[in-house]
Amino acid sequence: MLIGQILAGKGRDVVSTRPDATIAEVAKLLKARHIGAVVVLDAGGALCGIISERDLARGLGVHGAKLLDMRVSQLMTAEVVTCSPDDGLDKLMKQMTEGRFRHLPVFEDGKMVGIISIGDVVKHRLQELETEAHMLHDYIAGGA
Ligand code: AMP
Repeated sequence: MLIGQILAGKGRDVVSTRPDATIAEVAKLLKARHIGAVVVLDAGGALCGIISERDLARGLGVHGAKLLDMRVSQLMTAEVVTCSPDDGLDKLMKQMTEGRFRHLPVFEDGKMVGIISIGDVVKHRLQELETEAHMLHDYIAGGA
């Protein structure tokens, strides 16, 4: 299955924040949208980072309560790994496992067209496995 097919089902909505937003604002955004990460866009709308709940948890351990007033730019990951709608699920699973992250913005022709989380990957991989199992079952049952 290709990432473009997954996006067609889940939509292309990408929740974003700004580098100068506070961590408290990001925490509220993550809760309100029921998501684990937001991309960071600069004043021109270009991708300049990603910040996830894991950054917030680690930041709390390092900075304590003053974390809430810190800026996104102080905590975000600036080198963002992205993927393409033509990539397959296997490639994404490898990227997420090796990179130890669970979110991948999707880019097409230099434009962000969606975001894929590990939850999307697992959901669609399970569907693929179920379909394969049904096909094998039908094949065996049909041949008996
Ligand atoms: P996550 O597992 O997505 O919550 O993120 C774990 C760590 O990887 C955090 O420090 C994130 O800022 C970072 N991260 C998340 N997604 C990406 C990505 N696509 N490229 C680079 N770093 C990422």
